[in-house]
Amino acid sequence: MKSTDTFLEQALALLGERGLTRDPDLTAPWTTDWRGRFEGNCLALASPADTAQLGALMKLCEEAAINVVPQGGNSGMSGGATPSACGEQLLVSLRRMNEISEIDVEAQRVTCGAGVVLQDLHAAAEAADLRFPLTLGGKGSATVGGLIATNAGGTQVLRHGPMRSLVLGLEVVLADGQIYSALTPLRKDNRGFDLKQLFIGAEGTTGIVTAATLRLVPAVRERIVIWAGLHSLGAARQLLLHCEATLENAVEGFEVLPASCLEHVLDYLPDARAPIAGHHRWHALIEVVADTTFTGEVRERCEDTLASALAKGLIEDATLSANEGQAEAFWRLRESISPAERARGPAVQHDISVPVEAMPRFIETASPLLEREFPGTSALAFGHLGDGNVHFHVIAPPGVTPAAWYGGAAKTISARVHDLVTQWGGSISAEHGIGQLKRDELARLADPVALHLLRTVKAALDPQGRLNPGKLV
Ligand SMILES: Cc1cc2nc3c(=O)[nH]c(=O)nc-3n(C[C@H](O)[C@H](O)[C@H](O)COP(=O)(O)OP(=O)(O)OC[C@H]3O[C@@H](n4cnc5c(N)ncnc54)[C@H](O)[C@@H]3O)c2cc1C
Repeated sequence: MKSTDTFLEQALALLGERGLTRDPDLTAPWTTDWRGRFEGNCLALASPADTAQLGALMKLCEEAAINVVPQGGNSGMSGGATPSACGEQLLVSLRRMNEISEIDVEAQRVTCGAGVVLQDLHAAAEAADLRFPLTLGGKGSATVGGLIATNAGGTQVLRHGPMRSLVLGLEVVLADGQIYSALTPLRKDNRGFDLKQLFIGAEGTTGIVTAATLRLVPAVRERIVIWAGLHSLGAARQLLLHCEATLENAVEGFEVLPASCLEHVLDYLPDARAPIAGHHRWHALIEVVADTTFTGEVRERCEDTLASALAKGLIEDATLSANEGQAEAFWRLRESISPAERARGPAVQHDISVPVEAMPRFIETASPLLEREFPGTSALAFGHLGDGNVHFHVIAPPGVTPAAWYGGAAKTISARVHDLVTQWGGSISAEHGIGQLKRDELARLADPVALHLLRTVKAALDPQGRLNPGKLV
């Protein structure tokens, strides 16, 4: 076997000075995860310029038995892109592969490198009068490759699905350096398994995505954001069904938050104000867009929908955004929930899903149960009710320090939340992936047959375990 020194020499010759560094000042920002929970170390940071270079690099890694951690924007929430602390893993950044090579306006699709940043993809699609219908808070950092590897969700899943449903074709470098190239989408193709699915949501454990062909949709012509006050989560679920019946697929997002979340956000953002007056136990934020349908009539349709929802007793009060500025202001309240919670002290966060129809009952059962079992904590759930996915946060009792919390009760509470979610037929990771954060919990709670299948696929594609060891399975 080749020595590590020989590997480094050959990798430098292959990638050049721009493509390989061991300078701690340059590697340090990329060896800690976005939340600052995992700190790693790396042998070197490789930034191949193209797919062929990465293929050749992976062959060198195979010869020298070097393990590899793929990385995009490092905005992931589960420590999936953070190398271990051993300092022997090669961090492979895809950020240089950021070319948007083709937008086919007629076919409504784009082909681009894995390193394209989400907000750049948005801008490119917009310039072609189209839209890439997936967005999330980390859009200034998250890359196409990372979004694919984590099967990211966001706020438009209700209508357009997660990343999985937007990927039409993929190019992937395999563990041994072979290149799987299937960028050209076929509407019908029955030659066995849908191979691209082996890499979507696989968190870089089965191959390294280098390019993708993605679905685009017509640009938004008009949008309305509704803010509604509700008496219960059950009413929120009924309101969603009502909106889908009256507004059809113009409903793009349906988010919920409890009164306490809104109060915390208003404390955190002194210049913000509540969209509607009075106390409401729950709030819903609903995004309605007109693209090919409803143009010119979306406001009227929303007003009719709210009038009938009020008549049915589904809502207590509601308002519609009067303009883009107000629509953004409503979303700002939603997007400020996490920083507002963080500012109040330590919490333990869970990104969970249960069957959509069971979500209201789950939250109303789980929240008081946890508060009883862990006195002094407060549980709150907010997020994508329309997808059966909420962020379930348990906030530490007042005065508890982060060190005491994370080193003590937080882990027990997480295990309890995951147990409950599993009992309800749900998932311990709805959109953020498993990474290193939830790997042990997946092993503890997953159906043994499902776990066996995950491990079998991983072993078939990466028999030496070179790709992102210690993550997912
Ligand atoms: C403020 C904020 C809000 C967010 N909101 C959401 C949200 O609403 N919904 C949501 O789903 N996520 C959300 N995220 C999480 C994050 O943006 C996504 O997980 C994103 O998909 C990660 O992309 P990345 O390029 O940063 O990947 P990284 O963090 O670099 O990597 C994530 C995982 O993908 C692997 N990977 C990266 N690139 C490749 C590649 N080319 N080939 C193979 N494997 C690869 C890594 O090894 C790692 O396992 C949010 C993040 C932030 C910071």
